[in-house]
Amino acid sequence: MTSPVIFWFRQDLRLSDQAGLSAAQKTKVPILPLYILDDEIAGNWKMGAASRWWLHHSLKRHSEGLEKCGTQLILRRGPSIDVLLELIESTQAQGLYFSRGYQPHEVELEKKLSEILQEKGVECKRFSSALLFEPEAIYNGSGERYKVFTPFWKACLRQEALPQPLPKIKRLRGYKGHIDSDPLESWGLLPTKPDWSGGMTETWTPGEKGAHQRLNDFVENRMAEYGVNRDRPDTDGTSQLSPYLHFGEISPRQCWHAVKAYLAKEQRESCNGAEKFLSELGWREFSYHLLFEWPDFPEKAFRPEFSDFPWDKKEQDLIAWQKGQTGYPIVDAGMRQLWHIGWMHNRVRMIVGSFLIKDLLISWQDGERWFWDTLVDADLASNSAGWQWIAGSGADAAPYFRIFNPVRQSEKFDPDGDYIRTWVPELQNLEAKYIHAPWEAPTAILQKANVELGMTYPKPIVDHSLARNKALEIFQSLKK
Ligand code: FAD
Repeated sequence: MTSPVIFWFRQDLRLSDQAGLSAAQKTKVPILPLYILDDEIAGNWKMGAASRWWLHHSLKRHSEGLEKCGTQLILRRGPSIDVLLELIESTQAQGLYFSRGYQPHEVELEKKLSEILQEKGVECKRFSSALLFEPEAIYNGSGERYKVFTPFWKACLRQEALPQPLPKIKRLRGYKGHIDSDPLESWGLLPTKPDWSGGMTETWTPGEKGAHQRLNDFVENRMAEYGVNRDRPDTDGTSQLSPYLHFGEISPRQCWHAVKAYLAKEQRESCNGAEKFLSELGWREFSYHLLFEWPDFPEKAFRPEFSDFPWDKKEQDLIAWQKGQTGYPIVDAGMRQLWHIGWMHNRVRMIVGSFLIKDLLISWQDGERWFWDTLVDADLASNSAGWQWIAGSGADAAPYFRIFNPVRQSEKFDPDGDYIRTWVPELQNLEAKYIHAPWEAPTAILQKANVELGMTYPKPIVDHSLARNKALEIFQSLKK
């Protein structure tokens, strides 16, 4: 039997723009596609519950796609290196191909693997797949990593034009030998008791096809207005591509070229919505480059003065925040959206994050952990960068004195209260004038709307202006 090349799928669960698999296909030897569930390797960052739900459905669709190509996706659970070496041995594989990763444990593992395979004389090939620009390509004039986004993105845009995405793979020469594969169901990735995934099932279609439908719909129908609508959680203004990008069901290069193709069709060189959207992909790149350079970014404040922050560890406040019971409607709406569909609008992520850190004085790491478990797009690079940005402790972070006022933010970005009404139904009869701060509403208005503060909806758990002053005092003392 001809010995195969193993293609190890990781966060690249797609068949189009798949450089590694295309290269494996060109070898003309049989291909053995593999996915490993390795719960130990990421240490503290074992995949969260919402991501596991996504992974289950993504793997199911991906297996079906590979079957149509003439191969079977082998599923194995265990330490990655052990599984890989066992399979290489048992199939006498001549090569291992995979897309590179940028998380600290992946970088370490790839180095170790390439050393072991070199010794064994097995070809080990790594491909770029998840980013537009590799970390090795983008340095400032002094040869250092950029710490500020704007010059970083300018440097990216000065690079050579990005090649077109590779076509979808339609046929693969499968490996004919018998290889055991775990039944996907045996991995227990889906929640059972209770099954809280109803809202996610209604909202998402994981997998490559769902990713392209979303991208096409966004580019054709919503991108032109993205510059205006992207901050409005009450509109469907953003792409909602983040989980697809995280699991590699679509590549950023495919997104990039879809935007360029749209502009060419419209005979325009650029438009504000397109530029803004591409620069958001740029923030994703920036986060990955930061994580690659500073592997302890998810755990440790980038600015050392933040390490000694005297956080207030009030368990009941953290729980109220997690459950969307803070008494601040925009915060509660965001946290309930997150719980229900595993995703939250970016503007609201910033509002709830600022509220946790600066109003409740709970550490950004606590917020990061909760997001890690509940987001379907939970991503080590973007999540830690997002939280450090809000805390003011990150590389290119919000200044510490920028403390979001949850009421003003709500009035500005959800002016009619539609977003709040969707996620906080107990306030749905309250008029827009009072929905952002129900405690300011006259009793008669509250009664008319069937709202009883402290009973049907909580009273605010903190006074924002007092909390703001306290936070500023602490942040200022850190500067000294
Ligand atoms: P769009 O507005 O349509 O943007 C397109 C794509 O650009 C996104 O899909 C995403 O891949 C990327 N992107 C957009 N904004 C950012 C950003 N600020 N940083 C990095 N990439 C960005 N994003 C994640 O993918 N995973 C996370 O775990 C994550 N955690 C976050 C935590 C906090 C506290 C904050 C403030 C932001 C976080 N983000 C995270 C970034 C951002 O909120 C989401 O990427 C965005 O809301 C996803 O929605 P979208 O796909 O509709 O974005």
